[in-house]
Amino acid sequence: KSVVAIVGRPNIGKSTIFNRLVGERISIVEDTPGVTRDRIYAEAEWLTTTFNVIDTGGIELGDEPLLVQMRAQAQVAIDEADVIIFMVNSRDGITGADEEVAKILFKSNKPVVLAVNKVDNPEMRENIYEFYSLGFGEPFPISGTHGLGLGDMLDEVVNHFPEQVQEEIEDDTIRFSLIGRPNVGKSSLVNSLLGQERVIVSDIAGTTRDAIDTPFSKDDRDFVIIDTAGMRKRGKVYESTEKYSIIRALKAIERSDVVLTLIDADTGIQEQDKKIAGYAHEAGKAVIIVVNKWDTVDKGEKTMKEFEDKVRSDFRFLDYAPIVFLSAKTKKRIHTLLPKVLEASENHAKRVQTNILNEVIMDALAMNPSPSIKGQKLKIFYATQVSVKPPSFVVFVNEPELMHFTYERFLENRIREAFGFEGTPIKIFARKR
Ligand code: GDP
Repeated sequence: KSVVAIVGRPNIGKSTIFNRLVGERISIVEDTPGVTRDRIYAEAEWLTTTFNVIDTGGIELGDEPLLVQMRAQAQVAIDEADVIIFMVNSRDGITGADEEVAKILFKSNKPVVLAVNKVDNPEMRENIYEFYSLGFGEPFPISGTHGLGLGDMLDEVVNHFPEQVQEEIEDDTIRFSLIGRPNVGKSSLVNSLLGQERVIVSDIAGTTRDAIDTPFSKDDRDFVIIDTAGMRKRGKVYESTEKYSIIRALKAIERSDVVLTLIDADTGIQEQDKKIAGYAHEAGKAVIIVVNKWDTVDKGEKTMKEFEDKVRSDFRFLDYAPIVFLSAKTKKRIHTLLPKVLEASENHAKRVQTNILNEVIMDALAMNPSPSIKGQKLKIFYATQVSVKPPSFVVFVNEPELMHFTYERFLENRIREAFGFEGTPIKIFARKR
């Protein structure tokens, strides 16, 4: 999917535009408990094209001066985006900071679409001509608050998208990524995994457009580790910011089948861990929770059980994810990881037989009759699996609104017990017959 970044001075209206582009979708995912609300990276759609948008304004750098912030934002956009929307403000004209950003963007050779915001009525279009001097061609007048001009701007943005190379060749290579806070041990774990016995790292690195991905095989299975935030340490100021690492993580998640979300046993679980794991869950990927640095913990009889209980209560939304305790440093239990990755990826792509599925549903109904809401009773006629990655099921019913989430949850558990979907989320949709 192509990525679009919005760059511009603070308070110029970037977030308003971002929310207009992605607004509806955000409200859908925000139902997930434990998931962050302040997002700066999300999916958007224009006509038949879906793409991802980054609001670089959301990447705060503490109290760095304006120009430093602007340069960092422009750099994120250049590094991460296929097309950049450069926003200026019709009321302020061209400011020094605008010129500074323009210079950086210009040098990058990335396609830039110049959007002049706060053009709230047609008379104000007279004011946009001075912006030609920024050197990005035709300025597009828009109004974030009134939602004007966005269509023309987006047509131009989409025009600049690179030809989509069909990257996802359907093979049985298992793509996985490691996500987590800086210093949880992502790079160490990658190195330990690759250093295991009988792991054969392919010397043709970069089978996809990011040359950092690492293909390898073990026991005749092919894997690719997708590069994630924090593994390429370039040491620039913005790399250490929380939100920047989230953008990197999201891009990696999107390209993965299985996501390993790492927790540092030494520092314990932190808020940020939950946010990061929440993104993997939302993306519908198979997930494994890895508790790393287990060597640092003084262990008694119940230590692991206690830690596990804590993980389960902090990551309720990941109740399907197995938990693996290991040490990237001592390599203890590291051999248990790839079998889990394999199993999760198989479950993520699993198709079940329709007749067995329906037996399971009918048994479930017999065991726990569907509830009535306002005197009306939910009737289930038929269920079918409509897709994989993640496995998704449609249940045909008399009235979808009667499908209470607790009942849906009950059906999900029955399906899980019957078919074994460890490691993968599954989705159930109620449809009217
Ligand atoms: P990343 O930022 O997530 O890639 O983290 P790194 O792999 O760079 O690791 C951060 C620090 O944690 C380094 O000093 C590692 O040596 C250390 N570390 C990583 N894994 C382990 C582990 O299993 N046990 C211990 N004790 N230290 C670890």
